[in-house]
Amino acid sequence: MQNFITPFFQFAVNKRCNMMKFGTYVFLPEKAEGFDFHLYRVKPEVGRRMPPQPDMYSNIAIFGDNVTARNHPDWISQSPLGPAWRTNNNFNVRWDVLCATQPEHREEQLDYIEDVARHSPGVWLNSIHFADHGHCTCPRCNELWKKSGLNWFEWRRKEVTEYMAQVSERVRDRAKKKFVIGVLPDPLTNYERFGVNFDDLAPLTDEFLVVMFSKNYATPWYWEMLTRNFKKLFKDVPLNISLYVFGPGDDPREVPTARELLMVSVRMARAGVDNILYLAEGASQTLRSYGGKPVQEVLDFVKSWEKIVE
Ligand SMILES: [Zn+2]
Repeated sequence: MQNFITPFFQFAVNKRCNMMKFGTYVFLPEKAEGFDFHLYRVKPEVGRRMPPQPDMYSNIAIFGDNVTARNHPDWISQSPLGPAWRTNNNFNVRWDVLCATQPEHREEQLDYIEDVARHSPGVWLNSIHFADHGHCTCPRCNELWKKSGLNWFEWRRKEVTEYMAQVSERVRDRAKKKFVIGVLPDPLTNYERFGVNFDDLAPLTDEFLVVMFSKNYATPWYWEMLTRNFKKLFKDVPLNISLYVFGPGDDPREVPTARELLMVSVRMARAGVDNILYLAEGASQTLRSYGGKPVQEVLDFVKSWEKIVE
């Protein structure tokens, strides 16, 4: 163990001392002092476009685009669980997402990205892929899929990879600028959900960016993702997940609320978990008398589930 770990950490430390840099990622074209580089959101997912800056990298979201979706509602990505409007709670979409094969949008974005690349040190992309699992089932996508002769997942992968190859060519070969592909923070089921295959994209990009989300919605998002990841790894063996509610020595004021537990539980349930356990110190009654109001809320919530099951 020692022999394995020591060189690994040595490598990590060397890499860090030689190469690690700190950057800012900003909505306004303002450079904070003391950082090594700056990434400016010239076109975030809301779809607003701002002029690129000559000394800041440009960040562009391609298919998450509220403005274009408003102007072309028929370009919205489709699925059996409804279109990818940001109001569709069947998915974790925080913005409107367009169909990833829409030809006019693809073409317009290619020209736009190349132009932005020419006016800044490079382009970092977001929202390069299909909206989520089950997308897109619009008539064009169905036709493209059938024509391809591939299975559904492989066809989506081909669409994402081929389009990224075109974008890469525009930024790296034509504009001669740095190119960075951004992906969502799901290391194992990006392929099934979004059509993203990291090995395909690696030769096309200079670096990867993993977009980690804000505290506001991090926990449910990540718990759902982890559930999907473990389901994939465990294959047919049922997956139990335990949630730590209230353990020995815990401060009752720090117990998760019923709402938090419910949200995380439902997110895991829809990602395919087989059973969920709620870890507590002892039997319900003990917990109730000790934990005060927050614990009581949790127990009432579990009790209400028992009623539903009965
Ligand atoms: Zn489509």
